[in-house]
Amino acid sequence: MRPTGKLHLGNFMGALANWVKLQEQYECYFFIADLHALTTDYADTSQVATNTLEVALDFLGAGLNPENCTIFVQSQVKQHYELPLLLGMITPLGWLERVPSYKEMIENLAQKDLTTYGFLGYPVLMASDILLYQPQFVPVGQDQQAHVELTREIARRFNQFYKLGEQEVLPEPKVLLTPSPKLPGTDGRKMSKSYGNTIQMTDPEPVVRQKLKTMVTDPARIRRTDKGDPDKCPVGDLHKVFSTPATLAKVYDGCRSAGIGCIECKGWAADALVQVLNPIQERRAGFTEPQVLEILHEGSSRARARAQQTMDEVHAAMKMTLTGDTGR
Ligand code: ADP
Repeated sequence: MRPTGKLHLGNFMGALANWVKLQEQYECYFFIADLHALTTDYADTSQVATNTLEVALDFLGAGLNPENCTIFVQSQVKQHYELPLLLGMITPLGWLERVPSYKEMIENLAQKDLTTYGFLGYPVLMASDILLYQPQFVPVGQDQQAHVELTREIARRFNQFYKLGEQEVLPEPKVLLTPSPKLPGTDGRKMSKSYGNTIQMTDPEPVVRQKLKTMVTDPARIRRTDKGDPDKCPVGDLHKVFSTPATLAKVYDGCRSAGIGCIECKGWAADALVQVLNPIQERRAGFTEPQVLEILHEGSSRARARAQQTMDEVHAAMKMTLTGDTGR
């Protein structure tokens, strides 16, 4: 997760909530990708450290438990600077230019100059982030599958060039497709930091209620007496994710018969959101800054040790070691 701001409900439902479950079943590494924040926000780095702490608090609030998983900061694990250079040597330019999000983001973020070496190379950084832990799986949503596919291609190329005994040094990881509902923001588009349409995990109840009040609804339902359709309404989408079956049934009946108004329906959606957010916010408030720093230092240290094992194998396979066995 990139530390470009506090996390929102889309990040929670789309990723974090799954991670909380996965930590019980797998040995997991979760990191705050501060180096990736630089690929687009290189000109102003003043907020990266603050945002890193906020994201760590959001992780902990959501229920990631440092006893069950490793939580770390990418820039604190220097192997994340090291492997991209080596993998960059073997990655054809065409593979990077073909990444779907590359052209898309250059167009979407036209106000930023993204014609940089770092931005073109971010999939190599991403591949390294994954391969450093020699994982079996990467838990991502549909939108990230292309990145994992590229990671597999880079690993395959590495393994063809460089060998170390029978085992492949960089096994190709598989995608662990995690079900992730695409949550709409208050303007009806996908909830995203870049659109300014988010409900943050830290928003207090009055803010949640206010944001819901301004949220767009089924465009066909203009007057209170018009019948609506929750399947065409962003608030309906929130109900589908967060409300109980009983509330959802009331929403469908009430909206389709014009028995309820949008204000009432939004109130119920807000109730459901607040119920999800309350325990997260309480857990979050239980951590002090020194505690969070300690968790991140400790996690980064664990990640460094694991990543170094991989780097030792990478160096050995590439014969980039000073062994003193030339026989002179
Ligand atoms: P943002 O668009 O706010 O910058 P990111 O692209 O950093 O969010 O997304 C981080 C993670 O959260 C990704 O795994 C992404 O799939 C998930 N995510 C982001 N927005 C949503 C959303 N609206 N609905 C579901 N998942 C989302």
